[in-house]
Amino acid sequence: MTLRNADAVVVGAGAAGIGTAVALSLLDCELVVLDRDEIGASFRRWPEEMRFITPSFPSNSFGLTDLNAITPNTSPAVTLDREHPSGDEYADYLEAVADFHDLSVETGVEVTEVHPRSAVEPGPAPEPTARSSAVPAVDGGAVPDSEGEPDETTDGGFVLETTAGPVHTRFVVWATGQFGSPRRDVVPGADACVHTSEIRSWTDHAAASSTDEFLIVGGYESGIDAAVALVEAGCRVRVLDRGEPWATRGPDPSEVLSPHTLRRLESVADTDRLLVEGGAVVESVRRDGDGPFEVRARPADGYELDEGESSTYTVPTRPILATGFEPALGPAADHFQREEGVIQLTERDESPTTPGLFLAGPDVTHNGVKFCFIYKFRARFPIIAETIGSRIGVETAPLDVYPEQNMYLEDLSCCGPDMCDC
Ligand SMILES: Cc1cc2nc3c(=O)[nH]c(=O)nc-3n(C[C@H](O)[C@H](O)[C@H](O)COP(=O)(O)OP(=O)(O)OC[C@H]3O[C@@H](n4cnc5c(N)ncnc54)[C@H](O)[C@@H]3O)c2cc1C
Repeated sequence: MTLRNADAVVVGAGAAGIGTAVALSLLDCELVVLDRDEIGASFRRWPEEMRFITPSFPSNSFGLTDLNAITPNTSPAVTLDREHPSGDEYADYLEAVADFHDLSVETGVEVTEVHPRSAVEPGPAPEPTARSSAVPAVDGGAVPDSEGEPDETTDGGFVLETTAGPVHTRFVVWATGQFGSPRRDVVPGADACVHTSEIRSWTDHAAASSTDEFLIVGGYESGIDAAVALVEAGCRVRVLDRGEPWATRGPDPSEVLSPHTLRRLESVADTDRLLVEGGAVVESVRRDGDGPFEVRARPADGYELDEGESSTYTVPTRPILATGFEPALGPAADHFQREEGVIQLTERDESPTTPGLFLAGPDVTHNGVKFCFIYKFRARFPIIAETIGSRIGVETAPLDVYPEQNMYLEDLSCCGPDMCDC
């Protein structure tokens, strides 16, 4: 690795990491992005049939930046000529953005430990960065906070242990997403199932199976996506869900199926090969020897199942878990406290217990609202960059392009679900 000292290290080269790095790159700030794999690695692992549910459209010139863009002045619709890009296509877009902004991205480098410098043994002083003579040393005392006042709580900086050796930095942006932590351990026997994140192609999965009968646990976006892809491959599919996401409508796309997915669901409705069953709370999966898998479910409150108190569904193929993802905080987990599962952050998306460590991406939550889509969490990139820029004492005016393109969300009281008049 070429850069061993930096003002800021961004961990993860997905949408959140590359997007935050671009915002930081507009400032006079030495930064490096580290990824254990490659740029857009999670997107490259999407099933090949899957597409973005959020549409891309080249609307930037009217101040409405493409919903899937990670910078104010790019548009995946323009780069890719696609309204609903595939994972591979979107990873190509991320690579193009990183190239255009000449980001320093080190791939194949995993961050294995995160040490705030106050917590590590005093070691040799790190080499100064190219710009650091103008700012406090990487392990030096108080620095101005975002209002320009000294903040005694910041910042000893960090030592990141990586597979390519230690990296010293004043600020860390943790952007490792969720794809690396599929929610698998959901019921007894779930280890016999296959999670959607393990599938690279539903067509290949169907072709490799000895029968055409499948059962999917979970009927939200990834469950319905898998179901439709398997039905399109000629299979018969049953989907079980504790609720009925396919029958629920509402203004918050984090809670109901997207129009894109509903449309796909409608497109296979007359095949009679898809059965969606709501109100089924799956409780266990078991298999005797080489026999079929038995998936036992109880009825959710207010629902009845065919067999009364519980129903057992048998399926010859490994049940498919479309049960979502957990935060993949890895070695940073101890530095992000949670309350009732929600990661606690300051209003600048910084860890309240480990100053200088920021979180970017779909696990950012404020006032009960999850910033789980790209168009939501991207509006926090300039907030993080502005905070870091202010603390190291550099001009943050280059970030003005973000509010100009409506890609800057500072007032957290305004991020409730959108309401629609019709
Ligand atoms: C199946 C699926 C479909 C989705 N569809 C949409 C959609 O249509 N529209 C939308 O807006 N959002 C969608 N999302 C959500 C969005 O894609 C994700 O929230 C987004 O990928 C998150 O970006 P990220 O940069 O936080 O994480 P990722 O893109 O997952 O990037 C994380 C990166 O961190 C790296 N990494 C992890 N740990 C380490 C480590 N210790 N050291 C170094 N590197 C590390 C990984 O290699 C990876 O490259 C979808 C998500 C999924 C899972």
